Amino acid sequence: MNLLTDNTIALWITKLEIWPVIAALALNLTFRRYGKKAFKKRMASLYHAIAVFLLTSMAALTAERKWPDIYLVLFILAEIAVLWILRSRVFPYRRNCSGDGCGEKLDLRTIYYMDDNLCPQCAARLNREENGEAEE
Ligand SMILES: [Zn+2]
Repeated sequence: MNLLTDNTIALWITKLEIWPVIAALALNLTFRRYGKKAFKKRMASLYHAIAVFLLTSMAALTAERKWPDIYLVLFILAEIAVLWILRSRVFPYRRNCSGDGCGEKLDLRTIYYMDDNLCPQCAARLNREENGEAEE
């Protein structure tokens, strides 16, 4: 495998056809049941799908034109740079609860779907406060 002469990587990605994009969009559909509470992360998931689409498109173009893989690699690096610049929108994930002084480890569902990044206790406490009820 030589990045400057072969297009092995582009051919490999092209063989996957449209499936990586379909998988990314299917994952995006799983956000529907969380509604507004997962809006930011749903958008992030959409950006991921767009990134996958651009990557597979570039791989197809590279394979079709018989360009060497270095074109694709440079494109991937540029894409990573763009994702890094937009990281607050593209990766809004946190592993720990963002409640005041909590820092509890979050479960995967909260990390991947919920915008508030709160553990169940903090979410319940905030909910009580919003409803104007006394704590305890
Ligand atoms: Zn918490």
